[in-house]
Amino acid sequence: MTATRLVLLGPPGAGKGTQAQILAERLGVPAISTGEMFRSAVAEASGIGAQVKAYLDRGELVPDELTVEVVARRLAQPDAREGFILDGFPRTVPQAKALDELLERAGRPVQLCLLLQVDAERVVERLRRRAEIEGRSDDTEDGIRTRLRVYEERTAPLFDYYGDRGLAAAVDGVGGISEVAARIEEAVTRW
Ligand code: AMP
Repeated sequence: MTATRLVLLGPPGAGKGTQAQILAERLGVPAISTGEMFRSAVAEASGIGAQVKAYLDRGELVPDELTVEVVARRLAQPDAREGFILDGFPRTVPQAKALDELLERAGRPVQLCLLLQVDAERVVERLRRRAEIEGRSDDTEDGIRTRLRVYEERTAPLFDYYGDRGLAAAVDGVGGISEVAARIEEAVTRW
């Protein structure tokens, strides 16, 4: 069976965004990135944008309640009915619990949490390179340090949260884009 309701987990700079897009195309389900949604909200200077900008700039997490609300609204859209790839959500145990409740109510629980494994040194190197290319407001030395710490403390435990229910798998995220994409596809289709 192929899993189509997926959570993509991994440190900042692991390549989640790129891989989520590739996999989404392959599976015909949307890639949903809370980071992208927040960055567009900031760019559009919407109400939510104003609420989240300071968190994004500092590399800190947006409060759970607001984040869950944004995701719940997105998952209610028709294109997410057949499945979804969540990139960057959940990032805390309370977010994961809220997601479980939301999806269980709809009878379509998460099928697989896939961890994209990349060592800390390599992600720092990648984030520094991205800072030069994209100029994201949180790709500063302080922002990078904060996001890695937040990942270790708040997000990494989610691998066990899903793993305890037999819903987690790890994929080596080091390598070329198509090489990693092939590993992910293998993990997802044999799930
Ligand atoms: P990302 O693009 O996934 O690296 O996210 C960029 C930033 O958006 C993060 O550093 C947080 O400030 C915010 N963000 C994205 N997803 C979440 C989430 N699930 N919970 C809280 N904050 C988030």
